[in-house]
Amino acid sequence: MEISIKSSSVLRALECSDCGKTYAVFELQTLSGCCHRPLLARYDLKESFTKDQLRDRPATMWRYRELLPLLSDAHLVSLGEGFTPILSLQNLASLYQFKRLLLKDEGQNPTGSFKARGLSMAISKAKELDVPGCIIPTAGNAGVAMAAYCAKAKMEAVVVMPSHTPKAFQEECYWYGAQVHLVDGLISECATKAQALNGNGQWLDVSTLKEPYRLEGKKTMGYEIAEQLNWQLPDVILYPAGGGTGLIGIWKAFREMQTLKWLSPLVKLPRMVAVQAANCQPLVETYFGRQENARQYCGRPTIANGLAVPRPIGENLMLQVLRESQGTAIGITEEQMLEGLRELGGQEGLFVAPEGAAVWMAARQLLRTGWLSGEERILLLNTGAGQKYLENVAGFHRQK
Ligand SMILES: *Cc1c(COP(=O)(O)O)cnc(C)c1O
Ligand SMILES: [Zn+2]
Repeated sequence: MEISIKSSSVLRALECSDCGKTYAVFELQTLSGCCHRPLLARYDLKESFTKDQLRDRPATMWRYRELLPLLSDAHLVSLGEGFTPILSLQNLASLYQFKRLLLKDEGQNPTGSFKARGLSMAISKAKELDVPGCIIPTAGNAGVAMAAYCAKAKMEAVVVMPSHTPKAFQEECYWYGAQVHLVDGLISECATKAQALNGNGQWLDVSTLKEPYRLEGKKTMGYEIAEQLNWQLPDVILYPAGGGTGLIGIWKAFREMQTLKWLSPLVKLPRMVAVQAANCQPLVETYFGRQENARQYCGRPTIANGLAVPRPIGENLMLQVLRESQGTAIGITEEQMLEGLRELGGQEGLFVAPEGAAVWMAARQLLRTGWLSGEERILLLNTGAGQKYLENVAGFHRQK
């Protein structure tokens, strides 16, 4: 894809999310050296860059080019990711008495999930910084996306995923020419394996939040939500949180848009809901004070593979978003996810990832408990396409 937007990025520094110490943008950075925490990209946000300038740009996440960290367009690696549709779920809305129920369908991204955004960004930056190859521990979708973008960028790709990951994820990685390693365990065990495989540091580790740029790709969801809703925002956004880049990224975008004055001061930011699988809900446990943090948390596998992240490194950043936005965290059972899949399929013609089904069921549950009101504008994020999860869900289209 040709991007014809002539503009220099205004990336200024990478900032430690814990203490604020800044790091240079012209070299490879992983976690902050000071606190060993994720780095956040900081920009010189100029009010002279107005949202009107977006009007005739391509319908991909790269329309927000100035707010992304790539220094030169020559390194841009794109498969057409982003600008996914926001659909109105009218049938479910009238069934459950929601006044306005929207779903942003990230399953329509290249490689079938919103991981495409983060990896288009991270692999573009890896190319810019002259990295020969990348390695990733993954629950599935991130590995597939990394493999695809590495293929496009002519970079080596090494993917480490749990052996119970549905075949479609493994197989797609092979077709992109990636090296695949299967590990008995969850993504945390894959991370240990990836570190061992990468002992001499020959590949860039693009684990969630261990490099600063996947987050920047994911934040484009926040920009799109605002632009597609004509610079209004929903009252509540429900997001399926694993490592949390989407949650953190969307919130980061809202804050940046406030600085840019793209959002009127009258626009209230949404309450953000982190939806997890009851089988692996470290954030829910910490948020409700049942543990101090997730560092010792043990999770079980779930049909929503992307949610099986027992010890997320971005936990504090996620908690901060939930608190600042007056949001909440909620766990959804496997049975509920299957019910959600049946409803989104049968009522709305959408075959979503179990992660997306969890989000819908969370909306139902929060309506029932009164945390949500049917009068509010609700936006669900479906983060992936259902097709890859066949082994997890085949046959459950009827209630057993
Ligand atoms: C990775 C993934 C998630 C979780 O995303 P994070 O950025 O890790 O919070 C949710 N849904 C799907 C389909 C995923 O692949
Ligand atoms: Zn620090």
